[in-house]
Amino acid sequence: MSQPQARWNSEAYRIARRKMVEQQLKARGISDSKVLESMALVPRHLFVDEAQAAQAYLDSPLPIGYGQTISQPYIVALMLEALSLKPEDRVLEIGFGSGYQTAILAALAAEVLAVERLEPLFFKGREKLARLGLDNVHLKLDDGTLGWTELAPFEAIIVAAGGPRLPQPLVDQLAPGGRLVVPVGPSEKSQKLILLVKEKDGRLSRSILGDCRFVALVGRHGWSE
Ligand code: SAH
Repeated sequence: MSQPQARWNSEAYRIARRKMVEQQLKARGISDSKVLESMALVPRHLFVDEAQAAQAYLDSPLPIGYGQTISQPYIVALMLEALSLKPEDRVLEIGFGSGYQTAILAALAAEVLAVERLEPLFFKGREKLARLGLDNVHLKLDDGTLGWTELAPFEAIIVAAGGPRLPQPLVDQLAPGGRLVVPVGPSEKSQKLILLVKEKDGRLSRSILGDCRFVALVGRHGWSE
């Protein structure tokens, strides 16, 4: 019996991605052309299990094992647009998961430093990124709520899991002019997606991008295990 991935040739995936960009992203207000272009290129179907490849371009998160999910394409686009990335920026990503968002970040920024706490996902995602030949990504298996002190500061930080409060180390590791996008909420079931900007003089300004529902951010400055 042929696998879904074998039945779908790469042209069909390309068309499905284009449709995703038009109907799920542009139609809902995403307008950053670089974000749209890179999401039209990165093969989301390679970051889910083969059995789910045919669902990879639908408007939803999908399970990636260990109770975690690959984020919904619209939410990924919303977060990436809010980060206002410049090609020379270095980005810290917390919650690497499948590696899908990491691959898009790698197309938008100079360097991506990504942290994941679950070992099986870390190794699986690392292999996928290697297969795509991305050489501007560095990965760490650790509690990402602590940031990545040795490599700080970062022009942009993105968190793909929701915690009860803003992780202070991430705020501290933001460069002047830097942007942090992070879901924060009082329960593990729903959060507000927050954009925090550190002005050049160090002042912080905060805005709410909307309601969201991420998996739990587990760590020293997140939920406890
Ligand atoms: N961007 C990913 C999202 C994966 S779900 C994707 O699209 O595939 C969120 C991920 O955050 C999970 O893999 C989970 O294990 C991870 N995570 C949760 N708390 C973390 C922490 N403190 N540090 C690093 N990763 C964490």
